[in-house]
Amino acid sequence: MIHIRQFPCLKDNYGFLVHDDASGETAAIDTPDADAYLAEARAAGWRITQIWNTHWHPDHAGGNAAIKAATGAVVIGPSEVSRIGQAPDRIVDEGDTVALGAHAARVLDVGGHTLGHIAFVFDAEKIAFVGDALFAMGCGRLFEGTPQQMWTSLTKLTQLPDDATLYCAHEYTESNLRFALSVDPDNAALQARAIEVKTLRDAGKPTVPMTLAQEKATNPFLRAPLLKERIGKPGAADWEAFGKVREMKDNF
Ligand code: ZN
Ligand code: FE
Repeated sequence: MIHIRQFPCLKDNYGFLVHDDASGETAAIDTPDADAYLAEARAAGWRITQIWNTHWHPDHAGGNAAIKAATGAVVIGPSEVSRIGQAPDRIVDEGDTVALGAHAARVLDVGGHTLGHIAFVFDAEKIAFVGDALFAMGCGRLFEGTPQQMWTSLTKLTQLPDDATLYCAHEYTESNLRFALSVDPDNAALQARAIEVKTLRDAGKPTVPMTLAQEKATNPFLRAPLLKERIGKPGAADWEAFGKVREMKDNF
């Protein structure tokens, strides 16, 4: 059995600790804030033994050195993490598997936000940590990759089971929702989700994690192929429609 603790970090990041009872292993998923992670682990009575990075951005790998110094944790991540400090102890990419005790997580290449962005998928548990690749009704900005690359990445995530639980790294949901409603206003599932999101946020609760089914029904980036007419791209390839939606959000 694995346990997940989710806690706010920095302005709008979420921190995640994943713990396996049997082995006592604990993985920090990204490291936006070393102090917050160490305090959370202490409160749980867990010792961080691994760090799993999704990409190199400082709000994802900036706490690696301090957590490693405090705990001796092994850092696992894409090679691009060396851009902000030490290279990971173990560099992983698509096809690799990482282990938390007896629980295995598959590494997916979901590049686009950064070129080397990866996701960690616990297939047996139907849980994925997707970093800044996919957000609730949103997706990461294309700082380094192309629309085509990002579309390929998102398509991989849509192949997970519909009831998979997706943990993304930011609470961007309300602003994503405003854009989603502007581009997909007739979507009844989106309208219903808007009410759910408002209820959660008014109560000070996170909208993360999400299920893949929710995203397929309401995320305008995943729904880009269905929105071609509306966004003025009839006959475009799916990735081009995605690129157009991304561009519209960037200018929203
Ligand atoms: Zn990022
Ligand atoms: Fe981020």
